[in-house]
Amino acid sequence: MEKRVRVRFAPSPTGGLHMGGVRTALFNYLFAKKHGGDFILRIEDTDQTRFVAGAEQYIVDALTWCGIKPNEGVGFGDGPHAPYRQSERKESGIYAKYAQQLIDAGYAYYAFDSSEELDEMRKRLEAAKVVAPQYNAVTRQNMRNSLTLPEDEVKRLLESGAKYVVRLKVPRNEEIRFEDIIRGWVTVNSSQVDDKVLLKSDGMPTYHLAHIVDDIEMKISHAVRGEEWLPSAPAHILIYRYLGLEKEMPKLAHLPLILNPDGNGKISKREARFPVFPLSWQDPREAMPYVGYKESGYYPEAFVNILALLGWNPGNNEELFSLDELAALFDFERVNKSGAKFDPEKAKWFNQQYLRKHSDADLANAFKPLLHSKGIARSDAFLAEFCRLMKEKVHFVHEFWEQGHYVFEAKEVLDEKVMAKKWNDKSKALFTLVQDSFITVSDWQTQVLHDTFEELVKAHGKIDMQLLRVLITGVAGGPQLFDLLALLGKDEVLARLGKSLGKLN
Ligand code: GLU
Repeated sequence: MEKRVRVRFAPSPTGGLHMGGVRTALFNYLFAKKHGGDFILRIEDTDQTRFVAGAEQYIVDALTWCGIKPNEGVGFGDGPHAPYRQSERKESGIYAKYAQQLIDAGYAYYAFDSSEELDEMRKRLEAAKVVAPQYNAVTRQNMRNSLTLPEDEVKRLLESGAKYVVRLKVPRNEEIRFEDIIRGWVTVNSSQVDDKVLLKSDGMPTYHLAHIVDDIEMKISHAVRGEEWLPSAPAHILIYRYLGLEKEMPKLAHLPLILNPDGNGKISKREARFPVFPLSWQDPREAMPYVGYKESGYYPEAFVNILALLGWNPGNNEELFSLDELAALFDFERVNKSGAKFDPEKAKWFNQQYLRKHSDADLANAFKPLLHSKGIARSDAFLAEFCRLMKEKVHFVHEFWEQGHYVFEAKEVLDEKVMAKKWNDKSKALFTLVQDSFITVSDWQTQVLHDTFEELVKAHGKIDMQLLRVLITGVAGGPQLFDLLALLGKDEVLARLGKSLGKLN
């Protein structure tokens, strides 16, 4: 029988969760949902030197904003495997128990080397031109560990409370083969694998040991994580094997990297061209906050849609998917091996598609606080009509202001390019005629304004509409002109037109 699908997102609270991490959470979530399984949030906080205050809460907040809700785990209610924080799980002695099992079976050993001794080893190996110096089957023979020291010395050291770590005893030259759902079969020679530390001198397990113990204890069926963990996978296979748990181990899936728009590297948190974090993130170690997708005006639905297509495709040209649709379609077969280039312009396009799904009234409501913050108020009907007219031009709600502020405050300066090109000595007389006939319009509506204008054109020849727009709005482009004039209202249009004409010759 196939195992029940149980997947986990297992971040370390070492900083803000960036979009790559959210994508990992998303793929886990989608896979669990598709198979009616469980999605677990486990916090891997065993590296206390890298602990960052606020990072755990940030992870919970970010997943909540995205709608990627775990059904078990930190911040989402305890399930049968509580606690879900490794620092708390350690209390039961569970990691030490597994480590002891490996030691007893001869697959792990105590290493007493001081950091100076490790440094010396590294220098020695570097001097001997060893490319990647590591503690392994060869070098461990010259180090102070339970494989080289006499048994009674080891006993004495342990009893005297000497500092030690527990290391995995990796064989010298053995093929390690494992299957990755996305990459297929991978073969690595054990000479490439170092004797990973399993338990640190502070008694904390390392990620390598802790995640394996927890994946087993939590009955995880698939370990889905970023590509950066692929090089550690051979060591993990050995740990499972040496614990006699190879059959129970989760299937592995290593997700491709998300590359920057130039395709020449991983996206960096210092990226200036687009947000990297889902929510704004203030790293306590840094002065400046990072602005998030949320605060940049992205809808969570759009953000999730963008992430889903970074490394996965639905097999056709469709691009817009809700979380539920994604969950129905998602599988690892359509996850690529190669890195996924992030396209910031396309990301904006996605948000625009979601923005357009909102009603004019909804958009008006969303826009209102920004307008109020500028000390401006308009009726709901006015704002809904404004949003209807501007909707096609904007990607974000805040762009209603950037694109349409001239509706709310008349511009002092008229578009200089258009004026320089189009305003001539006949213009003033012509636009005064326009002004005069607008004064006579009593039913101030798009169609009436349009017809009035057409009549003027018939009587006087071409009248430049862009120039008319600039005289009233100050800007060269925007929504359909007569719609805009209808929205602005007769008094406002005539006041603006009069003011502009008054300044011109
Ligand atoms: N704690 C690891 C991380 O921060 C988890 C890797 C895994 O999912 O196995 O990415």
